Amino acid sequence: MIRSIKGIKDILPSHSPKWQTLESRAHELARRFGFMEIRIPIFEQTELFSRSIGGATDIVEKEMYTFPDRDGTSLTLRPEGTAGVVRAFLEHSLANQFASRKLYYIGPMFRHERPQAGRFRQFQQFGVEAFGTEDPLMDVEIITLLWQYFSLLGLQDLTLHINSIGTLNDRHEYLGHLRDFLLPHLDKLCGNCRRRIDTNPLRILDCKVPHCRSLTDKAPALIDHLSPPSASHFREVLQNLALLKIPYTIDHRLVRGLDYYSMTTFEVTSPALGAQNTIGAGGRYDGLVEMLGGPPTPAVGFAIGLDRVSLVLPENAISPPSPLVFVAGFGEAGQEAGVKLLQEIRNAGITADTDYRASTLKNLLRSADRLSASITIILGDTETKKGTAILRDMVTKKQEEIPISKVIQTLTYWINPPSPSQQNS
Ligand code: ATP
Ligand code: MG
Repeated sequence: MIRSIKGIKDILPSHSPKWQTLESRAHELARRFGFMEIRIPIFEQTELFSRSIGGATDIVEKEMYTFPDRDGTSLTLRPEGTAGVVRAFLEHSLANQFASRKLYYIGPMFRHERPQAGRFRQFQQFGVEAFGTEDPLMDVEIITLLWQYFSLLGLQDLTLHINSIGTLNDRHEYLGHLRDFLLPHLDKLCGNCRRRIDTNPLRILDCKVPHCRSLTDKAPALIDHLSPPSASHFREVLQNLALLKIPYTIDHRLVRGLDYYSMTTFEVTSPALGAQNTIGAGGRYDGLVEMLGGPPTPAVGFAIGLDRVSLVLPENAISPPSPLVFVAGFGEAGQEAGVKLLQEIRNAGITADTDYRASTLKNLLRSADRLSASITIILGDTETKKGTAILRDMVTKKQEEIPISKVIQTLTYWINPPSPSQQNS
């Protein structure tokens, strides 16, 4: 038997209500904040990712699914969404066509990582990108959207970590101090970090090896080396988060070791997860659009890892299925009336089903129970001849025989009985 690929999972019917909730809430909230959906392709030219994500990152170094097209062009399954969104933004001149310049996406990403709890090779992200403003209020709007998404889903005890990495110049200045601090201790750093000191020294700050961490605990902090405009940008972000009552923790280790990132970086962690506890992350990337050939365009965004969110989603956040009406038509005339009625009920927007394998009332009722129907409509030849149908409440077992023409109206009433106040008016 052929099995699925390691690190890639099926979402089975028992889990799809959870995923539908995660996705519908994302659409709902992003639109409420004025973002428009963009659907970008699942694969692109490799160069798009290697150029935008950067050679010195885990993603480009070892995590991309890259393969030659038939003509030899190198293609890659998207490992993240931002690169594709920026490409599309430029390719279709969206800056001119679309005033809000705020986009969101939901879809699968692919990274060749070691599969473990919360880390998959195909995983789902919900991400947003806002182009065209440097204003710290846009950083705050993006963080607010991220925070509200998690509150809407009922996630608890989350921490919002935030930092500023300033501009490229601020970082150049700071890296001198960081190197001076690290060089005398080089032998105590892990192999990865010893390599990073030349390729990507900032990343040493977010190394997970305990030895490296205790050393960098005392390292100088980037926010103490920001230029006055960068420092004031960060201050405004924090002040406005406080204004909107979004709690945050400043985290000096939160760096994005890439040149096009600037200013604000943030991530949200959940205590209910193990080692892979970051459920969403983002920041400002004022240099990326230009790097991909566009005009200088500031931008800020986030990406949420929906698989990790799904692991901490409370049961009561999941939208319950709509009540099911089961149509039990049997006998020649009853079955025919049932086929017609099933269509009418569905056309009226009510969830309805039947079982074509059952032909006796006993078997039909058993199927209705198995499908957890809340109401069954019984239609035998006797009822059909009289022009009636029997409605059976599957919980109370209460039955009522009514004219077939009244079925939709009665069902609507049974499913959504008017509240007492509506009845009085
Ligand atoms: P990590 O530190 O966990 O490797 P990252 O920095 O690689 O994360 P980002 O590229 O910032 O992650 O992606 C944003 C979010 O997507 C992460 O915070 C996480 O929730 C989710 N994510 C990233 N990689 C995976 C994966 N392999 N499986 C499941 N979710 C993932
Ligand atoms: Mg990663």
